[in-house]
Amino acid sequence: MCGIFGIMGHPEASNLAYLGLHALQHRGQESAGIVASDGNGLRAHRAMGLVADIFTAPVLEKLPGTAAIGHVRYSTAGVSQLKNAQPLMVEYVGGHLSVAHNGNLVNAQELRDALEADGAIFQSDADTEVIIHLIARSKQPTFEQKVVEALSKVKGAYSILFLTENKLVAVRDPFGIRPLVLGMLKNGWVLASETTALDLIEAEFIREIDAGEMVVIDETGLRSSQPMPPAPRRGRCIFEQVYFARPDSVLFGSSVYEVRKEMGRQLAHEQPTPGADLVIAVPDSGVPAAIGYAQASGLPYDVGLIRSHYVGRTFIEPQQSIRHFGVKLKLAAVRQVLKGKRVVVVDDSIVRGTTSRKIVKMLKAAGAVEVHLRISSPPTQWPCFYGIDTPSRQELIASSHTVEEIARYVTADSLGYISLEGLGASMGDRERTTFCTACFSGQYLLGETTSLTTAQDVAPKVASA
Ligand code: 5GP
Ligand code: SF4
Ligand code: MG
Repeated sequence: MCGIFGIMGHPEASNLAYLGLHALQHRGQESAGIVASDGNGLRAHRAMGLVADIFTAPVLEKLPGTAAIGHVRYSTAGVSQLKNAQPLMVEYVGGHLSVAHNGNLVNAQELRDALEADGAIFQSDADTEVIIHLIARSKQPTFEQKVVEALSKVKGAYSILFLTENKLVAVRDPFGIRPLVLGMLKNGWVLASETTALDLIEAEFIREIDAGEMVVIDETGLRSSQPMPPAPRRGRCIFEQVYFARPDSVLFGSSVYEVRKEMGRQLAHEQPTPGADLVIAVPDSGVPAAIGYAQASGLPYDVGLIRSHYVGRTFIEPQQSIRHFGVKLKLAAVRQVLKGKRVVVVDDSIVRGTTSRKIVKMLKAAGAVEVHLRISSPPTQWPCFYGIDTPSRQELIASSHTVEEIARYVTADSLGYISLEGLGASMGDRERTTFCTACFSGQYLLGETTSLTTAQDVAPKVASA
């Protein structure tokens, strides 16, 4: 769970990186960083917390230059430390190098063990550092060739940016798991996790970086190549469309808002709620699907839950003490809308079930006589190894409970999920041959599932990026 941004050829590179990261803040709230190049060297600033708090005017003034990369990060408790904040920056025989990575490598521990056995010293827990060591050790003649050699050894998800004194390099893994888009300004090129970052700085959206593609930007302009052997199939993360990306972004060629609304329509067809009075959303993530559900079912859409905008998903959230109060701090029920009503409440996903349970209870306490929970993704049964912060398998309520049991646990009068086929259909890919759906289907892109079925705790050992 991370957001990345890069810019080359603009006199205010770090200021624009700041804005870009601001637009990507939803992708990670734990730490943020910017590394800028003035052509002679790199300067970095990284800190825990939110972009707007970290990058004050004096801080940005200390990051001069015409090129910059930036990163926002979210991780689980335990690895919530400054040493894991990105972009990482190192000095090696080839010069200065900085890296911003979104995604998770599945063979990072293996590679790290081998590198450490060979004398490498690691500064962080982040699997991204493995890539830096591989680059530093590469005997290839050019920087691009070093990058390609390093990435040919790693497996998993990476949308990744490299910044040297005079080069910005972007690569997307052969499955295209995490998003990455290219944009253009009058002065310079821009790369970002999502188009919303381009929109904010008024950059023109050019195209998505292709799976397995490498783009190099330097003073001679932009060059593209396809150095990674293509994966047998695409594996774009379907959960980006369900929950993670911002609804105003265009992701994998489709408007996130339109896709989510379509999921809601599909959900209404598959899981209708006869006799209900109105449809409400769990804001913000459930809103587009709830609107789609209301449209398809002919029920009125109303606002039954208000979200406070002053409780961010801040970097302290992974602590259990904060999570406990989280829901009430974040959401309040509107009694006037709910009183005496049979309510359909639409959300994007159920992970542990604890939030949903509190929401259902809150709606009933506010006078709803029936609460029918509708979810615009299938039951989340498997952990993600490719960069989304899902808990281990036993914490996922749907891995060990039937839909009926989950309904009882969350105290809903009924519970209905969209089907996997329906989810694919909402994205124009019913067969789901271009998406990763592992957290719903257990079909991992790299076949990790065989070892999973026997493992007790399947949480990966490496820190998630
Ligand atoms: P639960 O009922 O499982 O406790 O919470 C479900 C809620 O968690 C949904 O509203 C969904 O939007 C949200 N959610 C889904 N995936 C994630 C995630 O990866 N991180 C966070 N912070 N929230 C998530
Ligand atoms: Fe996305 Fe789920 Fe695949 Fe992870 S397992 S990449 S969250 S679809
Ligand atoms: Mg939500």
